Amino acid sequence: MPKSVTGPEIERLIQLLSRLPGLGPRSARRAALHLIKNRENLLEPLAGATREAAEKVKICSVCGNVDTSDPCVICSDERRDPSVIVVVEDVSDLWALERAAVLNCRYHVLGGTLSPLDGVGPEDLTINNLVSRVIEAQGTISEVIIAVNATVEGQTTAHFITDQLEGQSVKITRLAHGVPVGGELDYLDEGTLAAAIKSRSDF
Ligand SMILES: [Zn+2]
Repeated sequence: MPKSVTGPEIERLIQLLSRLPGLGPRSARRAALHLIKNRENLLEPLAGATREAAEKVKICSVCGNVDTSDPCVICSDERRDPSVIVVVEDVSDLWALERAAVLNCRYHVLGGTLSPLDGVGPEDLTINNLVSRVIEAQGTISEVIIAVNATVEGQTTAHFITDQLEGQSVKITRLAHGVPVGGELDYLDEGTLAAAIKSRSDF
């Protein structure tokens, strides 16, 4: 075993940091050292923010978003169009769409995608809640945009949701697949290029 060069408190900090996505043991040590060196303006505020988030974070009972209030700020925002629901896999996707700032609507966070191989079935996701939301809205929801990842699991999930919403008077749409903004055709994989050709639109 390598000899420990710090006390157990710092070791524990490094160990916890190394469990964050994108941080291995090496970058966790660097991050810990950076925090320690900036005790007043980084380590202490971070400790406070972490403690506060741990105490106050809730999952929105309507849409599955994370926030400090339930319903979340998005669900309780009267200025948002309640007739459009965007279905996403994860809160990070909701954040990404909000950053793009093209929609002013409500969301529904699935909590993952259907994946029989990993044992993830419909009951592990919030698909039932979504269907209930649409039914309980009694026709006031006009469109459900399925904004899941362009993966096999994402598309399987999209088809499943579409089946579940059959018979409801709601338009179901999905994101276009195609050439990324600023992308060069020569660099695209065949799947993306084929999808872009199939979903071509009028000039
Ligand atoms: Zn919400």
